[in-house]
Amino acid sequence: MKQIVFLIYLAATLGLFAFTVKKLVSYFKLTKPFHRTDHIGKRINQTLLVAFGQTKMFQRPFSGLLHALVYWGFLVITIGTVEMIIDGTLGVERSLGFLGGFYDFVTLSGEIFAVIILISCLIFLGRRYITKPKRFIAPEMKPSSRMDATLILSMIILLMLSLIGMNMGYTGLAAAGAIKEAVGAYPVSAALGFVTSGWSVEGVHLFHEINWWIHIGLVLAFLNILPRSKHFHVMLSVPNVFFSRLEPMGKLENLPSVTTEVKLMLDPSATPPADAPPPSRFGVKDVTDVTWKTLMDAYTCTECGRCTAVCPANITGKKLSPRKIYIDTRRRMKDAGDGFVADPNYSDGKALVGDYITEEELWACTTCGACMQECPVNIEHVPHIVNMRQYLVMEESKAPEALNSMFNNIENNGAPWALSAASRFDWAASVTMPAEKVKA
Ligand code: SF4
Ligand code: SF4
Repeated sequence: MKQIVFLIYLAATLGLFAFTVKKLVSYFKLTKPFHRTDHIGKRINQTLLVAFGQTKMFQRPFSGLLHALVYWGFLVITIGTVEMIIDGTLGVERSLGFLGGFYDFVTLSGEIFAVIILISCLIFLGRRYITKPKRFIAPEMKPSSRMDATLILSMIILLMLSLIGMNMGYTGLAAAGAIKEAVGAYPVSAALGFVTSGWSVEGVHLFHEINWWIHIGLVLAFLNILPRSKHFHVMLSVPNVFFSRLEPMGKLENLPSVTTEVKLMLDPSATPPADAPPPSRFGVKDVTDVTWKTLMDAYTCTECGRCTAVCPANITGKKLSPRKIYIDTRRRMKDAGDGFVADPNYSDGKALVGDYITEEELWACTTCGACMQECPVNIEHVPHIVNMRQYLVMEESKAPEALNSMFNNIENNGAPWALSAASRFDWAASVTMPAEKVKA
């Protein structure tokens, strides 16, 4: 009976997860192509350091260490989750026990990490509700964002409590002689063994079953909440770091179509490439203009606010928050993604630039790259912001006054200054040269 109920629940939750993933894939299909598969060795190295090693998290040592421990703990505990799914499907108990010493290591470290994760999540909740760091309080941090974090942290706390409870039931059954011996090593459950020591075998068994169901029930529910929340970074941070840029952060890409035009202007004998399609749009106006990497950045953003905390524009009171740029990009896809999937010409009268992210925010960026330097999952703010500016300038002719003057000067004078080309050498008129130099 347990096996049948488990299989029905497993099929329902995996089916819902597949439906969500299919929907997200359809959103990614709306985006522009993008290729970045060079230097595989460097990318693997970067992934090991930044994603698995969590190295950028340690720029803030206390919260960074706690977060890293939670992440590493989850990696270990996931092995136990796989085992539970096998156990539930086959109707067996501790199916990976045959791994011997490795199994002892996994169960032992799993229990220790469960305690560390439990304590860390309680501290994280305390930070959100008691100490309230400045970066968690910002206009873009809506109540739903706080609720999202609270829900996930509460679920993780319950997950860890039920994991320890399940192991206490399992070791309690062994102690009561209901099973031959407990496979694995359970130091925390053993220390808490006094709780169930006076219980009947039936009572311990019920305790084990209740915790088993709470744990696996929450794990599979968690799987479906992740893609709908900022905690999707748990799944996307690894690929996002793998595909992140290896070049210097300040490097900006030229638009290929513009590069071709400039080359043709400088060399009139050159012929335009025959197979180059006309550009559909200059820069980024809406979410369908971004590359899949930019959309993955948006879904990977943890909303930690480390970028905004170091942004000179934000610190000096400008409207720009680099975190908001990605929250808005994700929100825009959530609002309009289904419409674009149903009809490529879909319009709700809104766009990412203008309705979600304002011109004022975009032009406040100094392109210093501090946000990219700080981001623990290597999100690339500067190219995204510059691409949206490109749209404003090249399609809407909307640029700050200072830039418009410079553009006019380049167009009229071939230089950014308000001086004609004919007066280029006027500066030399007052320069005199010593006679001996003139002779030479
Ligand atoms: S690049 Fe722009 S958004 Fe990022 S920190 Fe600098 S000013 Fe802020
Ligand atoms: S962009 Fe990076 S640093 Fe900024 S909030 Fe998102 S994850 Fe944090």
